Amino acid sequence: MSDAIRHEVGVPVPQQQRRSEAETGQLISYVLPVYNEAEGIKHFHAELTGTVAQRPEFDYEFVYVNDGSADGSLRILRDIAKNDTRVRVIDFARNFGHQIAITAGLDLAAGDAVIVMDTDLQDPPKVSLEMIDAWLDGAEVVQARRRTRRDTPFKRFTAHTYYRLLRSCAEVDIPVDTGDFRLLDKRAAEELRGFRERSRFIRGMVASMGFQQRELLFDRDERVAGETKYPMRKMLRLAADGVTGFSTVPLKLITRMGFASLALALAGIIYSVTLRLFFPEITVSGWTMLMVVMLFLGGLQMLSLGVIGSYIGRIYNEVQQRPLYIVRDVIRHDEA
Ligand code: UDP
Ligand code: MG
Repeated sequence: MSDAIRHEVGVPVPQQQRRSEAETGQLISYVLPVYNEAEGIKHFHAELTGTVAQRPEFDYEFVYVNDGSADGSLRILRDIAKNDTRVRVIDFARNFGHQIAITAGLDLAAGDAVIVMDTDLQDPPKVSLEMIDAWLDGAEVVQARRRTRRDTPFKRFTAHTYYRLLRSCAEVDIPVDTGDFRLLDKRAAEELRGFRERSRFIRGMVASMGFQQRELLFDRDERVAGETKYPMRKMLRLAADGVTGFSTVPLKLITRMGFASLALALAGIIYSVTLRLFFPEITVSGWTMLMVVMLFLGGLQMLSLGVIGSYIGRIYNEVQQRPLYIVRDVIRHDEA
């Protein structure tokens, strides 16, 4: 049935058709977090612009977020903005972290579709063109899922395990092996801007929004220059934010552990009282037993306090209501 006929008989034209008809002149925004990427950022921009040139039917904007780099990335970003009218640079007053940098870029991005990608070429620009195709085809969120990745075996193993653990305990369906490389339709981006929590785990928020989500498999490349900006400490924090932000399973586990240790305690009590009452001639040398029980219970209590503490820490962060990020300057082409 042609669209004209659809119109006449009142059948709504499906979303995907409407979108691909109005192709020309649509704006695609790229949100690009940068932290100490001086070595590779120029090359990255050249690659990205070279790739999007294959799809001249769209307009583009590139929103770089300089996340408090200490290595001259800002100077290079200024240069890039000077030479490319489509570039804007948000300059943070300090390092706020990857998730917050993405948030700031998203806040400024005005595109009909917004693509978030890393600036170390681990997320290949050509995959973003495939995302655009999926978007034209009707998807509202396009997730890039890693089929393979070239990281250290340790990182691959921990990431693999973590995503599966998270999936088993999270209240929303967080896709496995998916980072922050994704496309968001204008509507989805608008909704995501409304999530203002301070401990952020963006892939969880996107999963919790719903919309028509689609997955694209890709092979994650190696970093072109420099080294990872996610040391163990930051990775652990992100992992914890993912769990505490989207699951209360750890809190429930505490209750279960409590019941289990109560059951053990009851057995222990019955055992020792029976011995004391009916077999007074047996004196048990109880030092080992005492130590084991004490340390076990002490450890369990500390662990429980730690879990409760992480949730309270989240609450504390939220009630302070501090700004999510502080921008020193937004640099546009004409000011660079
Ligand atoms: N990044 C950032 N702020 C940070 C850490 C990282 O903006 O505090 C950026 C970084 O420049 C890169 C992206 O986030 O564009 C992903 O970081 P990285 O490549 O180091 O992480 P990995 O790929 O090793 O997980
Ligand atoms: Mg990387």
